[in-house]
Amino acid sequence: MPELPEVQTIVGDLNKKVRGLAITGVWTDWPNAFRRSPGGWKNFEPSVKGRKIEKVRRLGKNIIFDLSGGEKMLIHQKMTGHLLIGRWRLDKNRPVPEEQGLLSEKVNGYIHTLFYLSGGKMMAFSDLRKFGKIIAAGGEKFSDLEDVKNIGPDLTAAGFSFFDFKKALAGRRGPIKKVLMDQSVVSGIGNIYSDEILFVARIHPLKKTENLSDVELRKIFSAAKKILKKAIKLRGTSISDYRDTAGKAGGYDKVRLVYRKEGAPCPDKCGGKVRRIKIGGRSAHFCPHCQKL
Ligand SMILES: [Zn+2]
Repeated sequence: MPELPEVQTIVGDLNKKVRGLAITGVWTDWPNAFRRSPGGWKNFEPSVKGRKIEKVRRLGKNIIFDLSGGEKMLIHQKMTGHLLIGRWRLDKNRPVPEEQGLLSEKVNGYIHTLFYLSGGKMMAFSDLRKFGKIIAAGGEKFSDLEDVKNIGPDLTAAGFSFFDFKKALAGRRGPIKKVLMDQSVVSGIGNIYSDEILFVARIHPLKKTENLSDVELRKIFSAAKKILKKAIKLRGTSISDYRDTAGKAGGYDKVRLVYRKEGAPCPDKCGGKVRRIKIGGRSAHFCPHCQKL
C-alpha cells in the first residue's frame, strides 16, 4: 500500500502536472470506488465537473484535491491504486493508452476511472485490486469524513518536534509497530516504513509502547524523520503496484533494510538474519540480534 513517501511523490507530480486545470468529465467502469462519496457515483461527476484543481496536498495517505468553489476530492489509493497522467482512448469501454512506454505496462493498465482535464490532459486511476476510494465533498461534509477527522499528526510536517511525537504516543498501549501504523496516532506510516524505522532505531517491533523510555522514543522519532526523508527523495517503494504519475517505479526498495527481506543477512552485518513475525495480521521484519525485546 502506498505510504507517506509514495503519496508525497504523487502529490508533488500532480502539482506540477494538473494544478490549475479544470475537470471536464469523469468516466468509470467501477462505480463502487465512489460508494463513500455523498450521493455515490451518481452525484460524483456533477460535484466536480467544471471545477478547477487549485492545489493538491497530502493528508496522511490520502490525496486531497482542493477544487474551486470550496469542493474537495479525496483519493485513497489503498492496496494497489495509483494515479497516472497521460492520454487514453476508450476501446469497447476499455481505456487504452495513446502512447507506448511506461503507461502501457501491465501494472499501469488496471484503469477503472478516468478524469478528463482541460488542455487535453487526462488523469487515470489504475487499481488492480479495486479497493481504492474516491470521494467528493465540501465544507462540513468533507471535514466529517472518517478519513479526514481521525488523521493523526504528520511526522514530516515542518515544526513537528520530538515533544509533539511524544504527545501523539502518550497513553497508547501495545506493540510499537502497531501503534506507529495507527493513522490516528501519527499519519502516513504503514507496513514498509514501520519495519525500516524500527530497524534503524534498534527497537523490537513487539516492544510495548507504554514501556518505551524517552531515549528509545527519541531513537524512533529521529529514525522516522530520516527514513521518510530518504524514501521521499527516492520517490517511494515499488515492491508492489505503486508507480509514480508517469508510471515509473520508485527507488527505495533497492536500498531498503529489512522489509520483506526474511532470511537475508542483517544489513548491519551483526551476523544475524532478518526474521518475519506476525503482529495483528501484518508481517513485521526485524533483526532479532539488533532489535531485542
Ligand atoms: Zn542485526
